Formats: sequence, structure tokens, C-alpha cells
Amino acid sequence: MLNDYLEKELNSLEANGLKRKMKITSSTQGSRIVVDGKEVLNFCSNNYLGLADDFRLCKAAIDEIEKSGFGSGASRLICGNMTAHRRLEERIARFKGAENCLVFSSGYMANVGIISSLFNREDVIYSDRLNHASIVDGILLSRAKLKRYKHCDMDSLEEMLKQEGPFKKKCIITDSVFSMDGDIAPLDKICELAKKYDCSVMIDEAHAFGVMGEKGEGLAKHFGVEQEIDVQMGTLSKAVGSFGAYCCGSNKLISLLINKARSFIYTTAMPPMIAAASIKAIDIIEENSKLRKLLWDNTKYVNEALKRIGLDTMNTQTPIIPVLLKSSKLAVDFSERLFDAGIYISAIRPPTVEKNMARLRLTVMATHRKEDLDHLIQQIKTIAADLL
Ligand SMILES: *Cc1c(COP(=O)(O)O)cnc(C)c1O
Repeated sequence: MLNDYLEKELNSLEANGLKRKMKITSSTQGSRIVVDGKEVLNFCSNNYLGLADDFRLCKAAIDEIEKSGFGSGASRLICGNMTAHRRLEERIARFKGAENCLVFSSGYMANVGIISSLFNREDVIYSDRLNHASIVDGILLSRAKLKRYKHCDMDSLEEMLKQEGPFKKKCIITDSVFSMDGDIAPLDKICELAKKYDCSVMIDEAHAFGVMGEKGEGLAKHFGVEQEIDVQMGTLSKAVGSFGAYCCGSNKLISLLINKARSFIYTTAMPPMIAAASIKAIDIIEENSKLRKLLWDNTKYVNEALKRIGLDTMNTQTPIIPVLLKSSKLAVDFSERLFDAGIYISAIRPPTVEKNMARLRLTVMATHRKEDLDHLIQQIKTIAADLL
């Protein structure tokens, strides 16, 4: 019975060009990586600042192993709450100017745990249509009424906010930088609407932390609305180059999460060396505006070149640059041709994006060199002339 199901599902994925296969990376995570035995330029990681293989993070991790060992032994609420975890939370809270902070073992777990412990079936959540899957899963788990507004469309959001309902709590949740489109949420306008309609606001800064804001604090800082956002979640797994996630907010919010967030309570604490490496990464991010400048210069260079070639990079405003191709097959063919030419950019297909919105998702790093970018642009131009 199960076997029939497996075969049918897998065949259907294959037939629709949607079957996913994993490649294997055998190098460290830099701007050049070895994938399936082939050295390629890496244009698909979320390691925007090149910190994932930075020797300073490695050293911080090794130093912590020497002090604290490897595993954390238990959940945070039993005996797994080690000094490195609390130091990391204090470091993030200081960097973000927040009252308090709680670290989770991943961004996925943070969203699921935060949303399901703050909201229930008596509440309503207004969620951007393109929010990350972990937000959607958190809302489903909470059983709050889900209202999905059109992507970054404030008229659509206000239309929904105006409708009366028997709801106890209301909350707007949005990604701050959208992971597949590279555009940004209008947090200033969202906060205005929230005030007008007596709603709270939660943001997911996964792709903004380390990238947006004067020192990399995130998009809330960029818009100057940090004080108006109730729940600021972000990850340590993207620009920070590490692993895990945070939630910043009031002392009351953090206390409630410690008591109620099941993905915090019922899971083992992250190894302390990961917390130590994350602290080092945040030190580097805060002190090095040069890294962010390189990232933005590279981003601008690639985006302008792709536009000149006539490709649709949608409404990107960040180092995430989509190249919209619509057809899944075309996206896969394009990605394979690039791989043959020594460039790794993955094809993004439904269900990660909506139907007929398949694309290449290109991400720029601070550590790409000018000749890397020129090679990329030249190859995209050649393949586009061939395939499009
Ligand atoms: C990657 C991502 C997550 C999940 O974070 P992990 O630490 O990888 O689990 C959550 N939200 C958004 C917007 C993301 O891009």
C-alpha cells in the first residue's frame, strides 16, 4: 500500500519536472565550492557575507569545545542551558537594542514555536502571501484564522483589516526580506496599519539580519520601526554563517516563549560551540561595514548587468536576485547549463514558488570577486541567448 503511494507520487513529480535531487558539496562553504566533484562558483547560498567558513568563527567554535565540550546534553529547561547560550542571547539583544532575546535551534523551529504559543483559534493572523513555509506552518499549528494578503500589497492588507470579526488578538506577520523574490516588506506602512487597526506585528528577518540596517541589525532598523514591532525573529543560519535562530522582544514575550513554545521546550539545546561561533559572527558583522559594502556593490553590479541583458529580476532590492523564467523545465535546463559552465545557481520550482513562477535564484556574496561576477554575467548572457 505505502509502496504504491511512493511510486505514484515519485512518478508524478518526475513527470512534472518537480523531482528534487541533492547534490553533495565536498569543500567548505565559500564563494567557490566543490559540488558533485566539480569546482563551481557559488551563486546560491545564503552565506551572504562569506562567514560560514571564516576562520574566526571556526576558532571561536574550537575554543568553546575546549571549554564546554561538544554536546549540550539536554533541553534548555533541563540542564542544557549553558553559558554560551545566554551570552549569545545577551549579545543579540544588545545588537538589536531589544529588551530580551531567546535562541532557538533553527529558524523553522522558532517560527513554529513562537506563532503557535502566542496565538490560538480565537485569533486572526494576516500573513503576506509569500511568507516563508515555517510561518505558514506555525499559523496552521496555532489554529488561528489565517488571512493571506497579496504580496506587499497594503491595500489588500487594509481591506482585510477593515473586516470586523469575533477575534481576540490580531497580528500581522511578514518576512522582512522575501527569500525567493529578494524584495522587502514595507515595514513603515505595515506598522502604521497595525497601529490604526490595533494589531500586533511579527517579522522574520532571516535574510535581513546581517544584511539590512546600518550595521546589519535588520530591516526594522532600516525603517526605524524596531520599537513598533512586537516580535522580531531572525536566523543565525544565513548571513551570520552559523546555525540557529533568535526571537527578540520584551521580557514578558521571552518568558512566555520559555514556558509555552514547544519547539523550544521539547528539543535539545544547540551545541555551545555553535552559540560561541554565532557571537563571533555578530561581532564581525557589527564592526565591519566593509563586508556589507562589498556585498551591496556586488549586488548592484550583477542586478544591473542582468537587466541590461533583458532578464526579469522582478522587484529585487537585496542580494537575492531572482531570474524569472516561469517554466520549471526551462529553469532546470538553465541551471544545468550554468552548472556545466562552472556556475551553481539552483532552479526554484513549485511548490516553493507559485505555479508558472519558476526561476533561478541567484544570490550574491561579499566575497565574490569582480572576475567571478563577469564570468557569471557572460555565461548567463550566452545561455539566455540559446534557451530563451
Ligand atoms: C531560511 C528561513 C527560515 C528557516 O531558518 P532555518 O534556520 O534555516 O531553519 C525561516 N524564515 C525564512 C524567511 C527563511 O528564509
